[in-house]
This record gives sequence, structure tokens and C-alpha cells, in this order.
Amino acid sequence: MFGDKITALEPTAARLDSKSEAKPALGAQFPRVGRNLHPQGSTVQIGDVTFGGKNFVVIAGPCAVESQELLDEAARAIVKSGARVLRGGAFKPRTSPDSFQGHGLEGIEMLRRTAREYNLPFVTEVMSAPMVDALESKVDAFQIGARNMQNFALLEAVGRTQIPVLLKRNFGATLSEWLMAAEYIAKGGNTQIILCERGIRSFGQETRFTMDLGGAMWAKERTHLPVIVDPSHAIGLPTLLAGAVAATVAAGLDGAMVEVHPQPDRALCDADQALAPHEFDALMARVTPVARAVGRVI
Ligand code: PEP
Ligand code: MN
Repeated sequence: MFGDKITALEPTAARLDSKSEAKPALGAQFPRVGRNLHPQGSTVQIGDVTFGGKNFVVIAGPCAVESQELLDEAARAIVKSGARVLRGGAFKPRTSPDSFQGHGLEGIEMLRRTAREYNLPFVTEVMSAPMVDALESKVDAFQIGARNMQNFALLEAVGRTQIPVLLKRNFGATLSEWLMAAEYIAKGGNTQIILCERGIRSFGQETRFTMDLGGAMWAKERTHLPVIVDPSHAIGLPTLLAGAVAATVAAGLDGAMVEVHPQPDRALCDADQALAPHEFDALMARVTPVARAVGRVI
């Protein structure tokens, strides 16, 4: 009888063994950003702020840079509530060519002034490869927007710099396509990449996009890069953002990006999803104890 048991167990053990031998290392299909290269994960610095370490970093600010005064007001509010990095678009990829396109280089100068004044590093979108040279010496971090995730010339251009890159996932991209986009950047020598999940298209119409928290967790498991979530674009409904950020920190991810505007209903871009300063303050108050519970610092 004892012998029977051994016989019954042997094939199982053999299958497990052969499986573990055949199994490739985690993330090995991504030769530059795969988790196998840095099993403990890597960190990325924007200014003096570290992503991928003990801190859960919140990036906040308006969708678009509208005026120096509004940007200052947003910066004052987000610092007070505990955000560490300022966001704001100077070059805006809008669905309609008739919508506000951003103030361009003038907006970049506004970001620089506000960032200096409030001692905050900032991230802003770059939309084309030729613009990379012009912005390289002016910004703390490049954002590659969802619509440009597979603009390969742009990915290669930021990959030739040493400026950190926030790479958003396109709303129609698979996870592997997103990570391959990161490979394009890393191939040029720039591995200062933060992945940002910002919602994908699904059959649902009730939220703006579908926040793929599981997908972001998959990216975190398979790569050594910091991964953050942007629930403002993913969900689009101000009342749901605090819960979404709390879930993001509880899931072990590295940060969140939230749109904050001093007067949301007057915002020139993404007005419906922006949080007013007091709403952002409430979000941070809700997320902070969750972060503490999972050993993260905000
Ligand atoms: C943004 O961050 O304002 C933005 C345009 O985001 P996305 O590229 O994710 O749509
Ligand atoms: Mn926006």
C-alpha cells in the first residue's frame, strides 16, 4: 500500500519539476524592463522624489496649464494636501482640433515658474519627437500620453535622453504592447521609466474608461519598473477617485496621478473629472491610513 502511494505521487512530482525547469524567469520576454533583471524592482527619480521605493507618490495638478495664477493655486493646494509632483499639460492631445490645445512653450515656462516657487518637480506631456530636444532641458519628466504610446519615433527620442518618462498605456493596448513600448525607450539607454495605467476601452459606458487595476498589477509583477495608476482618466467620476487610489496603494503599486483644478467647472480640459482642492484633500486623508496599513509612506 505504501508503495502504491509513492507510485501515485511520483508522476505529480515529476510534472512539477519539469514545469519549474521549463518556466522562464518572470518578465524574461521583456529584455530590458523584465522583472528578472532586477527582482527587487528599480526606482525612478523625478527631481528629488523617488518612485518605486517605500513612498507611494501622488502626482496632482490640472489637466492643462491655463494661467500662471491657476497653476499657482493648484500647486499651493496639492502641496498642502501631500502631493509630491505637479502635473499639467502645455501641449494637449485633444479629440477635436477645435478644443483648447494648450499654451505650448509658454505653458512650459509657467510650469517651471510654479514648480520652482512651490519646490515641486513637474511632469508634462511631449507629443512629438522633434519636441523632445526643445523640452529636454526644461522639464523634470516627460509624459507620453495614451494616444502616443506606440509613436515609436517619440519613444526612441525620449529614450535617447536621461529625463524620466511617465509612459501611459494606450486605451486599446494589451499589457504586452505597453511593456514593449517601454522596451523602445529603454533600448535607447533611458531606463528611467514609470508605467501609468490610465484606463482601457471596454463595453462599459458608465465610467470614462475601465481602470485595469489587475493589468497594472501584472505590469508590476512582470517588470522592475515603478507602476502608477491615473484614476482621473480611467474612471472620470470625482466621487470614485479616492477609493480607486486607496485600492491602488493596497494593491502594492507605486503611486497615482490625479487631476486637480482650483475651479473644476471652469477647467478648459477634462472639467468633469477634476477634483476641487477640498476634494483632493479629502482623497489624501482617505488614502493615507490605507498606505500606512500596507507599509507605504505618502
Ligand atoms: C492627460 O494626462 O491629461 C492625458 C491627456 O492623459 P491620457 O494620455 O491618458 O489621455
Ligand atoms: Mn486630462
